[in-house]
Amino acid sequence: MTSPLVARMHGYETTVFAEMSRLAVETGAVNLGQGFPDTDGPSEVLEAARRAISEGRNQYPPGRGVPELLSAVADHQAEQYGIDLDPSRQVLVTAGATEAIAASILALCESGDEVVVFEPYYDSYTAMISLAGAHHRTCVLRFPDFSIDADELRAAFSARTRLVLLNNPHNPTGKVFNREELQLICDLAREFDAWVVTDEVYEHMTYGDAEHIPVASLPQMADRTLTISSAGKTFSVTGWKIGWISGPAEAITAVKTVKQYLTFVSGGPFQPAVAHGLRMGAAVFGELRSSLQQKRDRLVDGLAGLGVSVTRPAGTYFAVADVTSLGYDDGRQFCLDAPGRIGVAAVPLSGFHDDPEPARKLVRFAFCKQDHVLDEGLRRIAQLS
Ligand code: PMP
Ligand code: GLN
Repeated sequence: MTSPLVARMHGYETTVFAEMSRLAVETGAVNLGQGFPDTDGPSEVLEAARRAISEGRNQYPPGRGVPELLSAVADHQAEQYGIDLDPSRQVLVTAGATEAIAASILALCESGDEVVVFEPYYDSYTAMISLAGAHHRTCVLRFPDFSIDADELRAAFSARTRLVLLNNPHNPTGKVFNREELQLICDLAREFDAWVVTDEVYEHMTYGDAEHIPVASLPQMADRTLTISSAGKTFSVTGWKIGWISGPAEAITAVKTVKQYLTFVSGGPFQPAVAHGLRMGAAVFGELRSSLQQKRDRLVDGLAGLGVSVTRPAGTYFAVADVTSLGYDDGRQFCLDAPGRIGVAAVPLSGFHDDPEPARKLVRFAFCKQDHVLDEGLRRIAQLS
């Protein structure tokens, strides 16, 4: 019999995160691979979910999301970034950012359309572009500064470009795009009359002087931008799978049209809890930022102290290292060996690339872990240095 899997999904069978987390579990390795925190988020948010269950909010929520979360998202965008949204028409709650990404691509792309993405890219982007029958065109960000090559970016656009799928702050590089870079992307999007779908799940994870600038806040961009975020990152509840997407009313309705046949709705009692978290505001975001910045420095200083060439990322959960000084010239081989050999899991950057060559020696380490876990990981990595 022929493969039961449609050709459009061939090559996407296993995610690199699942592969590396499986190795971590099998070997009992310290998991610096998959990006999830190993401690719970704010107790008030967890309590709000328990309360919502006790209060009986356990049936289907409304299709667009519970009203208090829709308005909490709109108020968050206004207070943090000055973006004006009508909560009843311009916000949609989704099953994590993942569903928002899938539904927006499936809603906007005709078969044969092109989507511009930065490479390395988050894995679900290309899988969903392919499932939609569209094609991705890339602009490669290169280690160690991951800056944009303006000519390469322009060359990725064409008359078939339907949308630019941006991730800022950027997984896996930890890059935070600055205003000039965003302006360049936006100018091209306007020139080629493309949508910008911007995945900003790490919006509250920027360090030092780095500032998160939402695309939708830039001049003349609000009417062609769909902005995605998620509670998983902001409140350290990756298992809750509550995300949201906001933008022009007509486009949000288009995304909802697809979304209602993917999951219909999800996470009834978690939605009011996330609304509560967003209302807690600056205190929660500041605490998250300072705790993660310390963890970033703990991991990066530790690796640098071992003589490893490593980035000090301006955002996200992730630092990128070159494994040459650890005795490897191939990051994927390092990630396949390290769990069994030294008890540490990481993720190869090649898993986020079409052409693995620019990332061959690179691996991603997640620092969203308890200090003693980071220290133990470093102690184990030291065996190779
Ligand atoms: N986008 C990026 C860039 C991510 O790193 C992740 C994973 N955390 C997601 C989307 C998926 O988010 P969610 O768990 O809310 O679906
Ligand atoms: N976003 C997380 C990461 O980049 C993992 C999510 C997943 O496993 N799909 O590690």
